Amino acid sequence: MPEVPEIASRARELNIALAGKTISAVEILQPKCLNVSIEEFTAGLIGAVIENAAYHGKWIQIHTTQGWLLVNLGMGGEILLVTRATMPEKHTIVFEFSDASCLSISFWWFGHVHYVPEEGLQAHAPTAKLGPNVLDLSVEDFRRIVAGQRTAVKNYLLDQSRIAGIGNAYIHDILFMARIHPLRRLESLSPAEVDGLYQAIQDGLRPSLAKNGAFYEKDIYGQKGGFGMDEILIGYRENQPCPRCQTPIIKIKTGSTSSFICPSCQAFPAVV
Ligand SMILES: [Zn+2]
Repeated sequence: MPEVPEIASRARELNIALAGKTISAVEILQPKCLNVSIEEFTAGLIGAVIENAAYHGKWIQIHTTQGWLLVNLGMGGEILLVTRATMPEKHTIVFEFSDASCLSISFWWFGHVHYVPEEGLQAHAPTAKLGPNVLDLSVEDFRRIVAGQRTAVKNYLLDQSRIAGIGNAYIHDILFMARIHPLRRLESLSPAEVDGLYQAIQDGLRPSLAKNGAFYEKDIYGQKGGFGMDEILIGYRENQPCPRCQTPIIKIKTGSTSSFICPSCQAFPAVV
C-alpha cells in the first residue's frame, strides 16, 4: 500500500510530466470510483489544462484550469504515463491528452478518482478532514500538535486526521528509531522523546522519498522504487536480530494492527 514516500514521489513525477497537457478524453471503466456522475466528471475535466500536481495525505491533487482531479489509490494500484500502444491491459480509468499521451490509473482493490470544482476543495470531505502533511511539519509544529494528546503513540501517528501520510509499513522503523513502544502513551513522552520521535519520522520517511519510494511500488514510467527491503531496519523482520542490540525482533498485536518491535530497545515502561 502506498504511503507518503510513494505518494509524494508520484505527485512529484506527475507535476513534471503533466504540466501543460490538455485532457482531450476520459475513459471510465469503474464509475463507482468517481464522486460525481460520469457526465459531470467528463464535462468538468475535458478541455482542462494540467497546471501542477501535489498531494495531501494519501491523495494526489492534480490542479487544472477547470478545477481539481483527486486520486487516492486506496490499497494500492498504478498510475502510468503511457500511450494507446503501451496501455496496460488492466486499467480503471484513462485520461487521454491532446498530445496522444495517456494517464492510466488502475486499482488493486478499490480507489477513488474525484472531480472537484476550483472553489470546492474545502468542501471535499475526504481531504478537508486530513491533518497536515507529515513531511511539511517542523519540529515546533510537531511539539505543538502532540502537546496534551492522550492516546497511544502508534494510534496517533496513524490517525490521518491528526497527521497525514504515515501508514502501516514505515511506522515500525519510525518507532524503532525513536526507541518507543507502539503502545506508549503520547502524554508519557518526555520532551526529548517527542523531539526524537519527530526526527525518527523524518529519518523513517525521507530516505525512501529520496529513492522514489519502496521497491514494491512503481513510478509513472513503470520503474520500481529504489528503497529496498534491505533498508528496512525491523519492519517485517520477525525473529531476525535487532540491528542495534541483536535481540530477536518480535511481532505483537497492538489493537487492530500488528507491530514489529525490538523488545529490548522499545521496552514498555512498567510505570509511565
Ligand atoms: Zn534492540
